[in-house]
Amino acid sequence: MNTQTENKASATNILLKKGLIIAGPCSAENEEQLVQTAMELSALGKVDVLRAGIWKPRTNPGGFEGVGTKGLPWLLKAKKLTGLQTAVEVASPKHIEDALSFDVDVLWIGARTTVNPFSIQQIADALKGTDKTVLIKNPVNPDLKLWIGAIERLNKAGIHKLGLIHRGFSSYGNTQYRNAPMWQIPIEMKRLYPSIRMLCDPSHICGSTFGLLSVSQKSLDLDYDGLIIESHCDPANALTDSEQQIKPEQLGVMLNKLVPKNSTSHEDGIIRTLENLREQIDNLDEEMISLIANRMKIAKEIGEIKKKGQITVLQSTRYNEILTRLINKGNSMGLSEKFIGSCMEAIHLESIRIQNKINC
Ligand code: PEP
Ligand code: MN
Repeated sequence: MNTQTENKASATNILLKKGLIIAGPCSAENEEQLVQTAMELSALGKVDVLRAGIWKPRTNPGGFEGVGTKGLPWLLKAKKLTGLQTAVEVASPKHIEDALSFDVDVLWIGARTTVNPFSIQQIADALKGTDKTVLIKNPVNPDLKLWIGAIERLNKAGIHKLGLIHRGFSSYGNTQYRNAPMWQIPIEMKRLYPSIRMLCDPSHICGSTFGLLSVSQKSLDLDYDGLIIESHCDPANALTDSEQQIKPEQLGVMLNKLVPKNSTSHEDGIIRTLENLREQIDNLDEEMISLIANRMKIAKEIGEIKKKGQITVLQSTRYNEILTRLINKGNSMGLSEKFIGSCMEAIHLESIRIQNKINC
């Protein structure tokens, strides 16, 4: 390995760059395709890291399972020609050993690997003592704890240049997305690990080129730190994920349309207005909590009376009446039926829990 390159790669933490862009084909297919794609991406002047799948986890056997180790020299060549850092998916200690011997800068753990603590532990053990940048994709299923488990295993192995990739979650029968974004899960992850960078993978969320811009913009609005997007010099003939890859040129157009957001503003007027509105929100939130607490006190009294009168805790007709009335009121004030429904469901369930406690 070229030590100069190694030192440069280990000294810089690419994840510290806000607005990091990782792009490249779903799979490395041949040297020409990879180098051509890398050159076109590099010419945009906006891409930091070249991604390419070398080993592909496929649902069915017999499909194209990646070119394997023989693709790593192509990646190294693309890196030398363009100066882009490189990223590959690893799922085993052997993948890591091979990737490191070809000076790959960023390793990512795929969604099908994050679900398996055995594999994650093997990966963590193999990475011990390295200074690699590792990105962990969310698990295929919406299980926050599995994602957290992977962070903890890698942290314990001393891997501190860690980032997360939100690529959406598998759900049966979802037609709008290939993998439903379920934004509340990455938002919770950002709350739990505020210092770990969060990247969005709109390609695997959308599963098609349609929607890439809006999903990417939404991630920027949610203060994500960057994007990992699939881009291929000839998407129509790509061996994997053909429908969701875009040409580097289209990627350039899309990146230009994105509106970057800051977590704060330097304009005094904006800061003052925000502070004022937030104070109003804080006051209203406190009022809401007091109102809910009062409501629960009354629910408790009703529970005691129901016990005395031997009346059932659950009164479906009454609940339906409340729901209909509040949905109508909410609608007239611009609140959606879905939102009122889920708020009232949470409140009603808590009332039932309180009344059940009295009655048992
Ligand atoms: C990929 O990035 O090409 C890939 C296989 O992703 P995921 O693990 O999100 O399915
Ligand atoms: Mn892919």
